[in-house]
Amino acid sequence: MHELPFAKSIFNTVVEKARQNEAERIVRVVIEVGALRDFVPEIVQKYWLYVTRGSMAEGSLLEMKEIPATVRCRDCGTTFPVNMTNIKETCCPKCRCDMGTLVTGRELRILGIEIR
Ligand SMILES: [Zn+2]
Repeated sequence: MHELPFAKSIFNTVVEKARQNEAERIVRVVIEVGALRDFVPEIVQKYWLYVTRGSMAEGSLLEMKEIPATVRCRDCGTTFPVNMTNIKETCCPKCRCDMGTLVTGRELRILGIEIR
């Protein structure tokens, strides 16, 4: 269960930002999460309610945008999506090479905070 520390760390960051901006409340938080982070959105939402309770972010909306995992082929440079359920069998759709570099999928970013 790594969703709780995740929710807590987003919470700490946004509260700090909101305080710097002398906000009274946090209304909405938008985050970007790579598919390889393997977070269960429902669980993150549940913990979000829990960590924000009684704080300036209570009742705020947490919007998670999931970024699919993609890999760039080592041989031909094609970028293609990776199926997380059979990542071991993943190969380039163009040249069948099975070596590549991860392009997206490990994102963990706060895109925006709406404050009041
Ligand atoms: Zn290729």
